[in-house]
Amino acid sequence: MNQPMPDITHQRCHNHRRREAVARCPACGRFFCRECITEHEDQVLCAACLRSLAVPTGKPSDRLGGLLRLGHFLLGILILYILFYYFAQILLALPSDFHEGTLWQTGWWKGS
Ligand SMILES: [Zn+2]
Ligand SMILES: [Zn+2]
Repeated sequence: MNQPMPDITHQRCHNHRRREAVARCPACGRFFCRECITEHEDQVLCAACLRSLAVPTGKPSDRLGGLLRLGHFLLGILILYILFYYFAQILLALPSDFHEGTLWQTGWWKGS
């Protein structure tokens, strides 16, 4: 067996000895075929490295956090809406003489 020089074009996939490698994993330095290499956040990684990378801080918690943030956001809007609604109701329920109230009749800002 006369193996060619370690050139990318003649490299074989680490998992599939018969397949030609198309990329090299920067994490482990091994060569992989198109099927074994994955693009992850603009980084090319092999499946094994991608797995080990994804273990500590998984995506599900991120998604959950986003959902929680969205929920808080919607809840905030709802609370604001309810507050404004009740504020309007209180204003409407107030006796009308309050609306024609004493404030502008006293004219404290005019100094009279
Ligand atoms: Zn790798
Ligand atoms: Zn492969």
